[in-house]
Amino acid sequence: MAEFILRTKKKLEMVDITGRVVDVVKQSGVSDGICLVYVPHATAAVAINENADPNVCEDILEALGTLIPEGRWRHDRIDENAAAHIKATILGPSQAVPVRAGRLRLGTWQSVMLVELDGPRERTVIVEVR
Ligand code: ZN
Repeated sequence: MAEFILRTKKKLEMVDITGRVVDVVKQSGVSDGICLVYVPHATAAVAINENADPNVCEDILEALGTLIPEGRWRHDRIDENAAAHIKATILGPSQAVPVRAGRLRLGTWQSVMLVELDGPRERTVIVEVR
């Protein structure tokens, strides 16, 4: 198991971590298996989608904001970040990617991204390859 820490820069942000995950897969020596990418956080998530056009990430964050508006939830009375918790729950804290011939079996347009929903903060990413 490997962990790395990154510092997000914005309140809402998708950070491409594909390269970091690929490094962990290489170091693991696993040829065929599964790679789990997990964040131990209640207001961040892991998503796999396109980052070739960064507008896709902006659109995803905007769509989440439209679906889940801020400032109208019970938890906002004590922490003012209920929307971030709800978005993180919907997206989920992890993604699993098959490993084939020592490589992540991502599609051409897929990247692995940490989704920051209540930044900027320091975030830990845990990568498990088996
Ligand atoms: Zn909270």
